[in-house]
Amino acid sequence: PVSDSSAVLDRLHEVFGFTTFRGVQRDVVERVLAGRSTLAVMPTGAGKSLTYQLPAVMLPGTCVVVSPLIALMHDQLRSATANGIRAATLTSVDLDRGQTIDRFLAGDLDLLYVAPERASQPHFMEMLSRGRVAMFAIDEAHCVSEWGHDFRPDYRLLRPLMDAFPDVPRLALTATADRHTRADILAQLGIPEEGLIVAGFDRPNIRYGIVPRDNPLRQLMTVIAENPGPGIVYAPTRAQVEKLSQQLGASGRPVLPYHAGLDPQVRAANQAAFVASEDMVMVATVAFGMGIDKPDVRFVAHAACPKSIESYYQETGRAGRDGDPSVAVMLWGAEDFVRARQRLAEVEEHRRAGERTRIDALASLVETPHCRRALLLRHFGETPPPSCGNCDNCLEAPRVTDATETARKLLSA
Ligand code: ADP
Ligand code: MG
Repeated sequence: PVSDSSAVLDRLHEVFGFTTFRGVQRDVVERVLAGRSTLAVMPTGAGKSLTYQLPAVMLPGTCVVVSPLIALMHDQLRSATANGIRAATLTSVDLDRGQTIDRFLAGDLDLLYVAPERASQPHFMEMLSRGRVAMFAIDEAHCVSEWGHDFRPDYRLLRPLMDAFPDVPRLALTATADRHTRADILAQLGIPEEGLIVAGFDRPNIRYGIVPRDNPLRQLMTVIAENPGPGIVYAPTRAQVEKLSQQLGASGRPVLPYHAGLDPQVRAANQAAFVASEDMVMVATVAFGMGIDKPDVRFVAHAACPKSIESYYQETGRAGRDGDPSVAVMLWGAEDFVRARQRLAEVEEHRRAGERTRIDALASLVETPHCRRALLLRHFGETPPPSCGNCDNCLEAPRVTDATETARKLLSA
């Protein structure tokens, strides 16, 4: 049978050149090979692609992969093809669509990447029913949930499409889903609750610190001085990125800006310089980081609160991918929360409750006198030990002491 353990390991090695699975990959692959629908929540870099690509080469028929961005799809296509996997994309920008459809019908494709809007096209369902679909893989599956941070209405069309193929297993993948979003993804995509697999989210080598912003320039200079390796400073606006990248030049380190307003060539050059550097500071908006492969980032500093715990986790997660000690420092101010609550008014009404929950969760991370890591991991559904020994609250005397001291003085006066 295809789910025989040693056969799976053989194919893992043959196709990808890896000798072992990482974390929950094996559980996910074995479930899918057994024909059981699954939602895998795995952090960025954990290796989600392999969990559908490996079953795709092992199962008879084609794995239909839904992905939200054409650029992302083409990246995936390149790496799959490089591994000798028979793959194609079927999008509006592909000129060889006829040929791709022929290959699908002939059973000549392991992977077929499509955008979610294709699901609504009657032709597409009809085409799928004339070939053989091995499984559905839904990448960035949080897009199906209004509780997620990136709702895409087209993802809602996947359910009726997949329901037309009741025997075909579904594999939903996401890096960032709190409990609420997970439950919603399961319901929206018709995956049973027992199909939820969550990978460990802990990044033990990252030391978390969250401090009130009093003199941001001095505070960021200190972070830079204490961490000689490459680092990222996230700032909320393009203007702040420009200003900070000028000011932080005084640190004596190479500093470059990165934001979506820069000329694409400048952006690409700055990114390449950062990837190659051993001491550069990149000052950036959140536009920077997606898909950047730099394992030795030693610090990530936030000049202001990110927009959610999910964003915080994802952005700080760009530090220390090589496993070496790294730091994540966030500067926060009350005005960050004032601004976030003001933005609530602009959010569509049906999404407001979700947004509010996200702001509150972030506020509790900022305000907690207890272990930051424990709070983060609980947010992602884990049950961590109460203290980690590697965050500001675990390492320094809790600030609560000061408050008690002040209160005693006041009382005894
Ligand atoms: P994700 O989509 O979860 O962010 P990717 O699928 O892009 O992660 O994989 C991240 C990296 O991990 C890729 O370079 C991939 O080749 C590598 N990788 C995945 N699985 C394994 C494994 N079992 N052993 C070693 N490297 C792996
Ligand atoms: Mg991925």
